[in-house]
Amino acid sequence: MSVFQAPRGTYDLLPPDSATYLAVREAIAAPLRNSGYGYVETPGFENVELFARGVGESTDIVTKEMYAFETKGGDRLALRPEGTASVLRAALEASLHKQGVLPVKLWYSGSYYRYEKPQKGRYRHFSQVGAEAIGAEDPALDAELIILADQAYRSLGLRQFRILLNSLGDKECRPVYREKLQEFLRGLDLDEDTRRRVEINPLRVLDDKRPEVQRQLTGAPSLRESLCEACRAYHQEVRELLTEEGVSFTDDEKLVRGLDYYTRTTFEFVHDGLGSQSAVGGGGRYDGLSEMIGGPALPSVGWALGVDRTVLALEAEGVRLDLPAPTSVFAVPLGEQARRVLFGVVTQLRRKGVAADFAYGGRGLKGAMKVANRSGARYAIVAGERDLAEGIVQLKDMESGEQSPVPLSAVVTEIEARLS
Ligand code: ATP
Ligand code: MG
Repeated sequence: MSVFQAPRGTYDLLPPDSATYLAVREAIAAPLRNSGYGYVETPGFENVELFARGVGESTDIVTKEMYAFETKGGDRLALRPEGTASVLRAALEASLHKQGVLPVKLWYSGSYYRYEKPQKGRYRHFSQVGAEAIGAEDPALDAELIILADQAYRSLGLRQFRILLNSLGDKECRPVYREKLQEFLRGLDLDEDTRRRVEINPLRVLDDKRPEVQRQLTGAPSLRESLCEACRAYHQEVRELLTEEGVSFTDDEKLVRGLDYYTRTTFEFVHDGLGSQSAVGGGGRYDGLSEMIGGPALPSVGWALGVDRTVLALEAEGVRLDLPAPTSVFAVPLGEQARRVLFGVVTQLRRKGVAADFAYGGRGLKGAMKVANRSGARYAIVAGERDLAEGIVQLKDMESGEQSPVPLSAVVTEIEARLS
């Protein structure tokens, strides 16, 4: 029988590279934890209707990319393609918006599933860290989220990313613009799918990447010029806050994003080293989403950053994260008695919080030292019968190569002292 392979469009995270993924998740989460966001975890699947309504019937995500299925019990479910609808559903279900001061600020980290054409940076199973601030309309909140994402990327050492910023208007000005745009689009030479999109969600046609569509869009009515006074002022405030905090951005009137629920502020983080899968993260304000899924009016804003593409961005910039070695001390016993003794030393070290590992499988000195080397450990403890008879072990500094005898009874404290 041949060995099984991971399903198409998926890949495994394995050591040592998996450490980078964990570090990226950590780095994105750290500024959120530090800014009043509480951790939320929701199921990997939801009622399919939640996404149909919450993400939008006309989006690629719902029409083409969703893993939807019927259970044996007859429930219609879908693997989650994104996080916002689930997080808002969870907040509404638990009435978090009634329990304290708004906004409710939440962050999450997990796996998402989209049936897409797999390619570099585009997978069927991928990972996001996201943040949502639910129930408040305040330009400072929009700015906060953009600043925190910027801070996260910078803390990782990324530099070649840009922030694209736009405003999509609200329920006052968006419908007026929508109609104007529809009128314009109906006069173009478009395929049947796109014509249908013109009727359901015309703004998304602006986002069409195909050159034959883009070419026809010159002269389309301008969204920016159609914003109502309130949206214009709100957007201006977001822009000024970002500028004051030294976060630069590019105004991009064409930035629409693939989800139906966005209003006002929308933004995307793009990285210049990633080729066509250049978006590393995106988000925006979704003032109407709560009502779309049966809740009260709860103006909200959020983002999701892709972990996979962030790792690719690090590679593209040649950034190597300064990750601590997973093992500080490696024990190499020579002989049966030494195995017992050093196993005890390793256990003691671990209980003290020192990262320690052990040469299992009874290899000889040479093989075991090779493993010790590969572990990245700063120190090796080596002991044979003769050492133990003298009540000592050999402590080897793996960096300098220096080796010195240390009393067995003192080795744990000696290592702790040297490592601190
Ligand atoms: P794209 O335009 O590249 O399809 P998107 O607009 O569908 O991206 P979002 O739904 O905004 O992406 O998700 C936020 C982030 O999640 C993206 O910026 C990206 O980093 C990541 N992401 C989305 N889909 C995938 C995927 N199929 N594989 C890997 N990462 C993804
Ligand atoms: Mg997509």
